[in-house]
Amino acid sequence: MRLDGCNGDFELCTNLTEFDVHYNIVTEGELRTQCGFDALGCADLNLSIGKCTITLTAGSSSSTKLHELNHCRGWDHDYHDYSWTFRQPKVKWKPWGVVMDFLKKRKS
Ligand SMILES: [Zn+2]
Repeated sequence: MRLDGCNGDFELCTNLTEFDVHYNIVTEGELRTQCGFDALGCADLNLSIGKCTITLTAGSSSSTKLHELNHCRGWDHDYHDYSWTFRQPKVKWKPWGVVMDFLKKRKS
């Protein structure tokens, strides 16, 4: 299992969670309300039931879809929700702390 170095905007990362993925397709205005002011999409992981809900618009790009799907698979980037920096290419992703804790508990 590859635990770091995945570039989630360009490649499908290792599926750490194996959650069921659901899509919530909304308008641009709803996206801003549900995901945050400057978000292109978002992924909500429900660790207790093993479900991930991705919120996108009908016009979301394939790279945004891939990005959110990778969040469902347990990956995160260093600058999440703080700046535009994370959208630059070459920002390597890493497993999400909360997902790693979840995986450790699931194993034991
Ligand atoms: Zn993201």
